Amino acid sequence: MSAPASSPSMTAPAAAPGALTTRTLTLLAVAALAAAWGWLPPFTVTLLNYIGLHALVALGLVMLTGVGGMTSFGQAAFVGLGAYATAWVCTAPAVAEALQGLPPALLPWLGLALGLVLTALVAGVLGAVTLRLGGHYLPLATIAWGLSLYFLFGNLGFLGGHTGLTGIRPLELFGLSLADPRHLGVLIWAVVLLALWALHNLLDSRTGRAIRALKSGRVMAESMGVDTGRLRAQVFLLAALLAAVSGWLYAHLQRFVNPTPFNINIGIEYLFMAVVGGSGHLWGAVLGATLIALLKEQLQDWLPRLLGTSGNFEIVVFGLLMMVVLQRHAEGLWPTLARWARRAGVRPAPARLPAAAPLPTRPLPPPGTVLVEARDVTKRFGGLVANSKVLLEVRAGEVHALIGPNGAGKSTFFNMISGVDDPTEGEVRLLGEPMTGQPSRAFARRGLARTFQHVRLLGQRSVLDNVALGAHLRGRRGWLASMLRLDRHEEAALLAEAMRQIERCGLAEHAHAPAGSLALGQQRIVEIARALAAQPALLLLDEPAAGLRHLEKQALARLLDQLRREGLGILIVEHDMEFVMNLADRITVLDFGTVIARGTPAEVQRDPRVLAAYLGDDGLGGAA
Ligand code: ADP
Ligand code: MG
Repeated sequence: MSAPASSPSMTAPAAAPGALTTRTLTLLAVAALAAAWGWLPPFTVTLLNYIGLHALVALGLVMLTGVGGMTSFGQAAFVGLGAYATAWVCTAPAVAEALQGLPPALLPWLGLALGLVLTALVAGVLGAVTLRLGGHYLPLATIAWGLSLYFLFGNLGFLGGHTGLTGIRPLELFGLSLADPRHLGVLIWAVVLLALWALHNLLDSRTGRAIRALKSGRVMAESMGVDTGRLRAQVFLLAALLAAVSGWLYAHLQRFVNPTPFNINIGIEYLFMAVVGGSGHLWGAVLGATLIALLKEQLQDWLPRLLGTSGNFEIVVFGLLMMVVLQRHAEGLWPTLARWARRAGVRPAPARLPAAAPLPTRPLPPPGTVLVEARDVTKRFGGLVANSKVLLEVRAGEVHALIGPNGAGKSTFFNMISGVDDPTEGEVRLLGEPMTGQPSRAFARRGLARTFQHVRLLGQRSVLDNVALGAHLRGRRGWLASMLRLDRHEEAALLAEAMRQIERCGLAEHAHAPAGSLALGQQRIVEIARALAAQPALLLLDEPAAGLRHLEKQALARLLDQLRREGLGILIVEHDMEFVMNLADRITVLDFGTVIARGTPAEVQRDPRVLAAYLGDDGLGGAA
């Protein structure tokens, strides 16, 4: 399929021609700042420089915490790494001696390289150790490393101890000295704007879709083929590197460093900035950095007057203010600002994507091929046997139904054969390959796609975006390509494929609506569209018809029948017996985790054990 990307079905409803767009507004703001830069009073320039430096760190936190769902109080330590690395390179006599022949103007750039490498190493190790921690342990770990690095800076003799290092050379760029804060500020804000642009691009891409799923949809994302552990480590690294760049710029702005600005207090302040600004929004980082800087300015004036001392009371006031702000604006202030702008007629700029070429397809296994095979699969939860020696296979070109009363172990079995959970005993084979111990993304890679009994969508993202995540493994482009917008052809193809599946499932009119705004039954269909976007050979559907109206069920049955004729194998858990009996080629009946019957719908309906298990359940009687 090749649809021009600008066709109305592909892009979200956007600005009418001539209307003010967010992009225009951003460009105007940047132009205004650039034009005023030379005339701003030195005090304002300094303030803006600090806002830029803080915004860089907060941007990393927006990605890490707001988007990725990992809280860190320890970012200040990475700022310190960036600052100390360049400070050391620029001031250590040993370095000067070793690099005698080199022009001294190169030293800060070596310092940057060292800072980035060190940060990558430290973040790599810390990430490997701490990112596995769930719940409150991760934030606690970030406090621990924030404190350790801070004390390390203060206790290393060659870093000047608590006095720090002075006499750091100014930056030079193309032979121009950036000793004047006004000149360095241009570089600072260029870096901030570049980071904003690159991260905006990143979030609007295949990788970005996967990152957005880290916060609330890890199990789901893994089932779509995303390596969420690796992705978390990468986001963590990104945030750390942004902090290190901020530290590097800071060192050359201040021209001296000591441990104080890399204290855990400051780490908490960075988190304030991201959260108050709007931790899920990139521009929230700039807003948060601005607000906190202005506030701090005021507080440093007022608090000593009010309290008569110059203690560190800002942090207390910040904490209280943050609670007040989050009471009223749970997602920070940026969404409120964005809402005002929308009300004033500002619209997002229309997405421009090139024409989409079809995604590469892979041939389905020939009809009759055994796709998945469960051999004596047993699952125990403590003393409870949820699955007991279940034998089942699904072939290409058939609809196989798994039925049984509530609690029979159907969903548990789905998790066993899709890699979400491991069997206690027994073996699962996918297309002949033993899958023991493999993660669910490996199942996805081999052609399995599934839906979940309890819908797992990103409710705030559009239906289109959710479905496109299903096609994750059909794309290749990664971080750099996305940041630099080199992924547009592939992105257009992924979105076109998602749109095709949405249309096929009858949800075209909802494509741009937030997935969470749909009725629950429709959300289940979105999950089917997402699974189909993966172009699976085997489809697992856990109660897909629950919550659907009669006509919608008929449409679903037609769709599944068509997929079967195309050669997919489908395993379906469903309680609507009429639906199951009319659709399925074969049925396996589970009761208390054990298979009590298997066969064609006619055979199963006559089976006395099945009738006994369903006694009183009018579903089976209704269809018989
Ligand atoms: P079904 O999908 O057939 O309604 P499930 O597979 O969800 O049944 O559950 C089968 C049994 O396993 C139930 O008794 C349920 O309480 C139990 N169970 C499911 N998941 C877990 C779990 N993670 N921990 C403990 N018990 C579980
Ligand atoms: Mg279930």
